[in-house]
Amino acid sequence: MLPTKKSYCQAFIALGSNLENPVSQIQHAVSELSRLPDSRLICCSSLYCSAPVGRLDQPDFINAVAHIETNLAPHDLLKALLDIEHHHGRVRESLNAPRTLDLDILLYDDLTYQDDILTIPHPRMYQRAFVLRPLMEIVPTCFIPGRGLVSELIVSCTGQKLERLAVQNE
Ligand code: ADP
Ligand code: MG
Repeated sequence: MLPTKKSYCQAFIALGSNLENPVSQIQHAVSELSRLPDSRLICCSSLYCSAPVGRLDQPDFINAVAHIETNLAPHDLLKALLDIEHHHGRVRESLNAPRTLDLDILLYDDLTYQDDILTIPHPRMYQRAFVLRPLMEIVPTCFIPGRGLVSELIVSCTGQKLERLAVQNE
Protein backbone atom coordinates (compact mmCIF):
# COMPACT_ATOMS: atom_id res chain seq x y z
CA MET A 1 0.00 0.00 0.00
CA LEU A 2 1.28 3.47 -0.82
CA PRO A 3 2.22 5.59 2.22
CA THR A 4 -0.41 8.16 3.10
CA LYS A 5 0.56 11.57 1.81
CA LYS A 6 0.97 14.03 4.65
CA SER A 7 -1.00 17.19 4.11
CA TYR A 8 0.78 20.07 5.72
CA CYS A 9 -0.97 22.96 7.40
CA GLN A 10 -0.10 26.51 6.40
CA ALA A 11 0.93 28.63 9.38
CA PHE A 12 2.04 32.25 9.61
CA ILE A 13 4.33 33.36 12.41
CA ALA A 14 4.94 36.94 13.55
CA LEU A 15 8.46 37.73 14.72
CA GLY A 16 9.33 40.77 16.82
CA SER A 17 12.34 42.00 18.79
CA ASN A 18 13.51 45.25 20.36
CA LEU A 19 16.44 44.17 22.56
CA GLU A 20 20.02 42.95 22.03
CA ASN A 21 20.53 43.48 18.30
CA PRO A 22 16.97 42.95 17.11
CA VAL A 23 17.87 42.43 13.43
CA SER A 24 20.18 39.57 14.33
CA GLN A 25 17.59 38.14 16.77
CA ILE A 26 15.03 37.99 13.95
CA GLN A 27 17.48 36.55 11.40
CA HIS A 28 18.50 33.80 13.80
CA ALA A 29 14.89 33.08 14.71
CA VAL A 30 14.01 32.65 11.03
CA SER A 31 16.76 30.08 10.65
CA GLU A 32 15.44 28.29 13.75
CA LEU A 33 11.95 28.26 12.21
CA SER A 34 13.50 26.55 9.18
CA ARG A 35 14.62 23.73 11.51
CA LEU A 36 11.29 23.13 13.29
CA PRO A 37 10.42 19.42 13.34
CA ASP A 38 7.85 18.17 10.83
CA SER A 39 7.81 21.58 9.18
CA ARG A 40 9.43 23.61 6.45
CA LEU A 41 9.97 27.30 5.99
CA ILE A 42 8.28 28.58 2.83
CA CYS A 43 9.33 32.22 2.97
CA CYS A 44 9.82 35.21 5.19
CA SER A 45 8.89 38.85 4.61
CA SER A 46 11.28 41.77 4.62
CA LEU A 47 12.22 43.22 7.96
CA TYR A 48 10.22 46.22 9.19
CA CYS A 49 10.82 48.76 11.93
CA SER A 50 7.80 49.77 14.05
CA ALA A 51 7.13 52.13 16.93
CA PRO A 52 6.25 50.39 20.23
CA VAL A 53 2.57 49.90 21.07
CA GLY A 54 1.02 50.33 24.53
CA ARG A 55 4.23 51.11 26.38
CA LEU A 56 6.10 53.90 24.61
CA ASP A 57 9.29 54.18 26.74
CA GLN A 58 11.17 51.42 24.92
CA PRO A 59 13.15 51.00 21.68
CA ASP A 60 11.50 50.57 18.27
CA PHE A 61 10.80 46.99 17.19
CA ILE A 62 12.06 44.94 14.27
CA ASN A 63 9.27 42.79 12.84
CA ALA A 64 8.72 40.19 10.13
CA VAL A 65 6.24 37.46 9.22
CA ALA A 66 7.23 33.93 8.20
CA HIS A 67 5.18 31.34 6.32
CA ILE A 68 5.75 27.72 7.31
CA GLU A 69 4.16 24.42 6.36
CA THR A 70 3.84 22.17 9.35
CA ASN A 71 2.51 18.90 10.63
CA LEU A 72 2.82 20.12 14.22
CA ALA A 73 -0.53 20.52 15.94
CA PRO A 74 -1.20 24.13 17.03
CA HIS A 75 -0.24 23.56 20.68
CA ASP A 76 2.95 21.73 19.69
CA LEU A 77 3.82 24.59 17.36
CA LEU A 78 3.22 27.11 20.18
CA LYS A 79 5.45 25.10 22.50
CA ALA A 80 8.22 24.96 19.89
CA LEU A 81 7.96 28.74 19.41
CA LEU A 82 8.08 29.41 23.17
CA ASP A 83 11.22 27.20 23.33
CA ILE A 84 12.88 29.33 20.63
CA GLU A 85 11.91 32.51 22.51
CA HIS A 86 13.44 30.98 25.64
CA HIS A 87 16.72 30.21 23.82
CA HIS A 88 16.84 33.88 22.86
CA GLY A 89 16.77 34.87 26.52
CA ARG A 90 13.16 36.03 26.49
CA VAL A 91 12.10 37.17 29.95
CA ARG A 92 8.36 37.63 30.47
CA GLU A 93 7.84 40.87 32.36
CA SER A 94 4.59 42.68 31.79
CA LEU A 95 2.31 43.05 28.80
CA ASN A 96 3.97 45.11 26.02
CA ALA A 97 7.36 44.96 27.76
CA PRO A 98 10.57 45.05 25.66
CA ARG A 99 11.70 41.61 24.50
CA THR A 100 14.61 39.86 22.79
CA LEU A 101 12.17 37.77 20.76
CA ASP A 102 8.44 37.39 20.38
CA LEU A 103 7.00 34.63 18.19
CA ASP A 104 3.25 34.55 17.71
CA ILE A 105 1.08 32.20 15.69
CA LEU A 106 -1.00 34.48 13.48
CA LEU A 107 -2.86 31.96 11.32
CA TYR A 108 -3.05 28.17 11.10
CA ASP A 109 -4.90 27.19 7.93
CA ASP A 110 -8.38 28.67 8.32
CA LEU A 111 -8.63 27.56 11.97
CA THR A 112 -10.53 29.62 14.53
CA TYR A 113 -9.69 28.43 18.04
CA GLN A 114 -9.48 29.72 21.61
CA ASP A 115 -8.45 28.28 24.95
CA ASP A 116 -6.52 29.55 27.97
CA ILE A 117 -3.13 29.48 26.26
CA LEU A 118 -3.82 29.77 22.55
CA THR A 119 -6.00 31.97 20.38
CA ILE A 120 -5.97 31.61 16.59
CA PRO A 121 -6.12 33.86 14.63
CA HIS A 122 -3.92 35.94 16.95
CA PRO A 123 -6.45 38.25 18.66
CA ARG A 124 -4.74 41.59 17.93
CA MET A 125 -3.16 40.89 14.55
CA TYR A 126 -5.87 42.63 12.54
CA GLN A 127 -5.15 45.97 14.26
CA ARG A 128 -1.37 46.01 13.79
CA ALA A 129 0.39 47.46 10.77
CA PHE A 130 3.61 45.65 11.77
CA VAL A 131 1.79 42.34 11.26
CA LEU A 132 -0.49 43.21 8.34
CA ARG A 133 2.12 44.87 6.09
CA PRO A 134 4.65 42.00 6.14
CA LEU A 135 1.81 39.46 5.87
CA MET A 136 0.43 41.26 2.82
CA GLU A 137 3.93 41.38 1.32
CA ILE A 138 4.12 37.56 1.25
CA VAL A 139 0.38 36.80 0.70
CA PRO A 140 -1.30 39.78 -1.01
CA THR A 141 -4.76 38.11 -0.91
CA CYS A 142 -4.49 36.91 2.69
CA PHE A 143 -7.81 36.55 4.58
CA ILE A 144 -8.11 36.51 8.38
CA PRO A 145 -10.98 34.24 9.49
CA GLY A 146 -13.64 36.29 11.25
CA ARG A 147 -11.96 39.58 10.33
CA GLY A 148 -11.57 39.96 6.59
CA LEU A 149 -8.99 40.70 3.95
CA VAL A 150 -5.62 41.96 5.14
CA SER A 151 -5.59 44.44 2.24
CA GLU A 152 -8.79 46.02 3.63
CA LEU A 153 -7.91 45.80 7.35
CA ILE A 154 -4.62 47.58 6.75
CA VAL A 155 -6.43 50.76 5.71
CA SER A 156 -7.36 51.36 9.38
CA CYS A 157 -3.68 51.17 10.40
CA THR A 158 -2.30 53.97 8.22
CA GLY A 159 -1.45 56.13 11.25
CA GLN A 160 0.99 53.56 12.65
CA LYS A 161 4.68 54.25 12.04
CA LEU A 162 6.23 51.43 10.02
CA GLU A 163 9.31 51.38 7.82
CA ARG A 164 10.53 48.58 5.55
CA LEU A 165 14.25 48.02 6.07
CA ALA A 166 16.77 47.67 3.25
CA VAL A 167 18.66 44.98 5.20
CA GLN A 168 18.20 41.50 3.76
CA ASN A 169 16.44 38.91 5.83
CA GLU A 170 18.04 35.46 5.87
P1 ADP B 1 2.25 39.06 23.39
O1 ADP B 1 2.82 38.26 22.25
O2 ADP B 1 0.76 39.29 23.27
O3 ADP B 1 3.00 40.32 23.66
P2 ADP B 1 3.45 37.06 25.09
O4 ADP B 1 4.44 36.83 23.98
O5 ADP B 1 4.00 37.37 26.45
O6 ADP B 1 2.41 38.20 24.72
O7 ADP B 1 2.54 35.77 25.12
C1 ADP B 1 1.80 35.44 26.23
C2 ADP B 1 1.03 34.17 25.96
O8 ADP B 1 0.13 34.35 24.89
C3 ADP B 1 1.80 32.95 25.51
O9 ADP B 1 2.43 32.28 26.57
C4 ADP B 1 0.71 32.09 24.88
O10 ADP B 1 0.21 31.13 25.78
C5 ADP B 1 -0.40 33.09 24.61
N1 ADP B 1 -0.93 33.06 23.25
C6 ADP B 1 -2.25 33.02 22.97
N2 ADP B 1 -2.45 32.98 21.66
C7 ADP B 1 -1.23 32.99 21.08
C8 ADP B 1 -0.79 32.95 19.72
N3 ADP B 1 -1.67 32.91 18.71
N4 ADP B 1 0.54 32.97 19.49
C9 ADP B 1 1.43 33.02 20.52
N5 ADP B 1 1.09 33.06 21.83
C10 ADP B 1 -0.25 33.04 22.10
MG1 MG C 1 3.96 36.50 21.98
